Amino acid sequence: MIGAGHAGLAMSRCLAQRSIDHLVIERGEVANSWRHERWDSLRLLTPNWQSRLPGFLDDGGDPDGFRTMPETVEYLVRYQRAIAAPVQMFTTVMSVIAEDEGYRVGTDRGDWYCRSVVVASGACNIAATPAFAAAVPPGIKTLTPLDYRNPDQIEPGGVLIVGASATGIQLADELHRSGRRVTLAVGEHVRVPRLYRGRDIQWWMDAAGVLDDRYDQIDDIVRARRVPSLQLVGSRDRDILDLNALSQIGVKLVGRLAGIVDGRAQFSGSLRNQCALADLKLARLLDRIDEWAMLNGLDARVAPHRFPATEVEASPQLGMDLQKAGVKTIVWATGFRPDHRWLHVPVFDHKGQIRHDGGIVDAPGMYLMGMPFLRRRKSSLIDGAAADARDLSDHLTGYLDGHAQELCAAE
Ligand SMILES: Cc1cc2nc3c(=O)[nH]c(=O)nc-3n(C[C@H](O)[C@H](O)[C@H](O)COP(=O)(O)OP(=O)(O)OC[C@H]3O[C@@H](n4cnc5c(N)ncnc54)[C@H](O)[C@@H]3O)c2cc1C
Repeated sequence: MIGAGHAGLAMSRCLAQRSIDHLVIERGEVANSWRHERWDSLRLLTPNWQSRLPGFLDDGGDPDGFRTMPETVEYLVRYQRAIAAPVQMFTTVMSVIAEDEGYRVGTDRGDWYCRSVVVASGACNIAATPAFAAAVPPGIKTLTPLDYRNPDQIEPGGVLIVGASATGIQLADELHRSGRRVTLAVGEHVRVPRLYRGRDIQWWMDAAGVLDDRYDQIDDIVRARRVPSLQLVGSRDRDILDLNALSQIGVKLVGRLAGIVDGRAQFSGSLRNQCALADLKLARLLDRIDEWAMLNGLDARVAPHRFPATEVEASPQLGMDLQKAGVKTIVWATGFRPDHRWLHVPVFDHKGQIRHDGGIVDAPGMYLMGMPFLRRRKSSLIDGAAADARDLSDHLTGYLDGHAQELCAAE
């Protein structure tokens, strides 16, 4: 197993239950990403009850709370201890190559040979930035969410945040409240309220089966895997943090950043359409929830309702001379991608992504965990690892059994 985040640990637990010898190789410590790659104020946007791992759930006595980063690290370390996962820490995988009937895993601490490999090294190793990031004028600092920790890092003055999914909206809120003038470039996004009909939206999506939608039963899985994260924040007072809330406090909304030419940022004219689309998709999600609530006798408690449409200026700004506008910092909240450069096995498609069928990689005995919509809509969430790890460890067990039978037959 490569990676001791929650996905690697969940898989370790399932393999141990199936008596399969294994080792989890981790370049840092357990929960490394949560320790070193997140900003200080971040809390999980999934409530504590929604961190169910195979054989483990501890909601800390506060099921509806949202863990801070230190609490998340502590939770995963406790999980690793509880399941006695064999983690080889401070060991970086530099290469995986196919050899004999298995794989040679080369690390900075020597090589391991194994029949089967589980790639659980994370979906968010590298911040994805657009090609035109290179055209940012000198003197303007750029940052990704992997580098950002808190507002003290940011010069006074203007900040352009590119991307309005969970990360972008949270940083826009934090930086605005710290006194910066924030412009938020809004592309495709998924609008959801924190609370709906008296319950957390994650509760509804879980109960109504939205998070269990399967990869092989969805119309366009390629597209579904690219859908951005939900506009949510995990806060004590369960605030709704959407574009309306941000414009109300003074964050300026502009369209998707389409390019930077001669120091001038060019914003797409699609802001109104993007917002209308997000409003429409929100209505569809709430329709599905309402239908489920009606079928399950929950209608009597709180009546369905809808949220005001996203408000957009009549003519949003289409261009901005970054220096004249006093922009001192650009934050690329434009998503993340995995780093599989060490995987030297021909399993990549023309876009450089691992070819797999619900986590069963197109190479014998190789598996993938923790990717968006790997097997279910919830696959990249902590809460999604249990079901995926059960399915994939069953497949892996079958693979090893089949292999053993072949060997016996050959003798
Ligand atoms: C900003 C942000 C907020 C999120 N909020 C939530 C949330 O609220 N709730 C939720 O359920 N999910 C959330 N997620 C999504 C998801 O839970 C995380 O992406 C999670 O960290 C993925 O778990 P993982 O185990 O797949 O990967 P990771 O936690 O990234 O673990 C992968 C591990 O592999 C190690 N590794 C990588 N490469 C190598 C190598 N070559 N050799 C050895 N080790 C290696 C890394 O050090 C790391 O420890 C969030 C993600 C992000 C980015």
